[in-house]
Amino acid sequence: MRIAFASGKGGAGKTTVAASLAAIWPHPCLIVDADVEAPNLHLFLHPHLEAAQSVYLTVPELDSEKCTACGDCAAMCSYKAIAKLGAGLIVFADMCHGCGGCFEVCQANALKKGKRELGSLQWGSWSLKMGADQNSDQNLNQALGQTSSQTSGKNSGKTLLMGKSRVGEAMSPPLLRAIDGALAAISVGDAASVPDILIDSPPGVSCPAMTTARMADALVLVAESTPFGTYDFKLAHAAFKKLNMPLAVVMNRAGMPGNESGDAALEKYCAAEGLPLLARLPFDLQAAEAYARGYLPLLEQSANALIWQRRFGLLYDAVQRWAGGKIGQIAEPCSAVNICASGTTGAGHA
Ligand code: SF4
Ligand code: SF4
Repeated sequence: MRIAFASGKGGAGKTTVAASLAAIWPHPCLIVDADVEAPNLHLFLHPHLEAAQSVYLTVPELDSEKCTACGDCAAMCSYKAIAKLGAGLIVFADMCHGCGGCFEVCQANALKKGKRELGSLQWGSWSLKMGADQNSDQNLNQALGQTSSQTSGKNSGKTLLMGKSRVGEAMSPPLLRAIDGALAAISVGDAASVPDILIDSPPGVSCPAMTTARMADALVLVAESTPFGTYDFKLAHAAFKKLNMPLAVVMNRAGMPGNESGDAALEKYCAAEGLPLLARLPFDLQAAEAYARGYLPLLEQSANALIWQRRFGLLYDAVQRWAGGKIGQIAEPCSAVNICASGTTGAGHA
């Protein structure tokens, strides 16, 4: 099962939702940071990064002794990465998109295959750490055992795969495709041995976000119901629904003071569009403060953390009901889970 978490805008809470779900996920799970231009999952999950691999793009290098300065390669390059200047030729490797066209048209065999580093893939294991004083995992296991039957004592088999663009690198889709290749490599063999995969997507609907969505079996849109948030969410929905994949919504910061009509408008839109609303996670100033300190709200050392663990346990249940255990064969939208301030559920709309 591969689920991507996306949002119409940055700051809607998709990283918090993805990381928190990964924290309480009761089966072996791999969380992927595909927000390669600004990866930050590692700041919250504190993985032990065990390995790294550089990712390169094949770019042309000029063999000026063989070049006849015919200009065919410059004419072919749509990205202006090759320029013919008088009798000479200049290759701007940083502008190359790696399409390979110039190699095809050069009859003189004057272009060699060079490489440009795009970034790296890093991976490693992580375990749950509570709050500012980093108490033992046992504390959280105990806490989770008390608050969610599904998550009791399950604090193993968690890994993180992080894509990280080189500073100054403008192209991220090839790096994302390298992530997809890594996911394909671990997805072969016995289905029972393949971990569930949660993917933190880049925000928005640009090329990196769409590339990331295509890696997943299903997409959860994390939405904030402020006027800007709803506007961007609708744009995102319009873009992602063209991918023809299962979509669901998590409303974040529900019940924000003064924004009650925003919540209702977002719910109405989801109902009209047939979008399953998996949960309404409430606005919580304490949670925002925890996040600002670099901690997931459910891993803070506070009573509030227990409530958030319960909420995400319920969201896990909702995701499972939505997916029906087999994403891709979802029969119908499930009911929304209204996860209120106490962490209990209330009635939702279908
Ligand atoms: S590989 Fe494609 S993008 Fe790069 S320089 Fe050649 S033609 Fe241009
Ligand atoms: S196509 Fe080959 S020979 Fe012609 S300008 Fe380009 S590199 Fe030189």
